[in-house]
Amino acid sequence: AADLAMFQVKENGRNNVFRYSSQLDERVSRKKVLGRQLLSAAENGELEMHYQPILSASTGEVVKVEALLRWTSPTFGPVSPAEFIPLAEAGGSMLGIGTWVIERVCTDLRWFRENGVELTAAVNISGLQLMHPGLPGELARALKVNGLQPGCLELEITETVLMSGESVFGALEELRSLGFRISLDDFGTGFSSLSYLRHFTVDLIKIDRSFVSGIRPGATDDTLVRTVIELGHNLGLRVISEGVELKEQFELLCHLGTDELQGYYISRPLPAAKLEEFIFNRQYDLFLSK
Ligand code: C2E
Ligand code: MG
Ligand code: MG
Ligand code: MG
Repeated sequence: AADLAMFQVKENGRNNVFRYSSQLDERVSRKKVLGRQLLSAAENGELEMHYQPILSASTGEVVKVEALLRWTSPTFGPVSPAEFIPLAEAGGSMLGIGTWVIERVCTDLRWFRENGVELTAAVNISGLQLMHPGLPGELARALKVNGLQPGCLELEITETVLMSGESVFGALEELRSLGFRISLDDFGTGFSSLSYLRHFTVDLIKIDRSFVSGIRPGATDDTLVRTVIELGHNLGLRVISEGVELKEQFELLCHLGTDELQGYYISRPLPAAKLEEFIFNRQYDLFLSK
């Protein structure tokens, strides 16, 4: 985008220099403001957890959800986690926000349980959290307070996190030994995903949305997705397909043997009360007819 701006500046002459540089200023100041606001977002009640159902391909039931963080900035309104998580990581608020997420998810899991819904939650864990020695204790405390076991949580980490070095592998092994399942998120988008699978054990891989969206209506097969599912199964892992938006994708992924499915086709991420309604009314029964 910066290159394009330079190009247009050169093409169109002087006036545009001011326009583009002021846009750049705006972007920089937005980042600064967001970064500062994130430091008090949790204590100001600006954070909320949404939950996206994950469907088991074999039973057709929703027994798992992914916890996805939502933030409403006091000046900019709703901001996507894709934008604010990196700012939180850079600005020193990620650990605090991560703690808030873990506590919120465990409280919500207990609430679901009290309402007769047994759920596992997949929680996204930032590299900074993983490197923080306090993480296992924090997880254990939040579970204990709410009468939950480590098996209730799946920790999602990305390949980028694995690239940060050896110490990460130790942290992951410790978490696995404590009973947490580990899921490799956005599988296939990082560098040499396969080599990481040799270095340490995960329980699940999540095929990234970009591969799933490559499956077009009318296609009868997709070699890449088929191969990833087979690879996962050969390594004894469960395979989740994320970003399932279309009926055709859903059907093909089931046919190719994916274990679990997640995406707008099944449901968007929902606030806790709406999720309970979704599960209680078995609104996903629709998908059993596959
Ligand atoms: P992710 O972990 O890969 O989460 C999946 C993202 O895909 C979510 O975006 C979800 O809303 C979106 N999604 C799910 N199904 C579909 C679909 O069918 N179509 C499309 N187009 N999108 C779909 P979201 O909620 O905006 O989160 C973006 C990323 O932010 C997440 O990607 C995750 O990396 C990060 N994130 C979200 N919550 C947290 C959190 O609590 N902690 C940390 N560290 N990162 C988080
Ligand atoms: Mg995730
Ligand atoms: Mg993902
Ligand atoms: Mg993704």
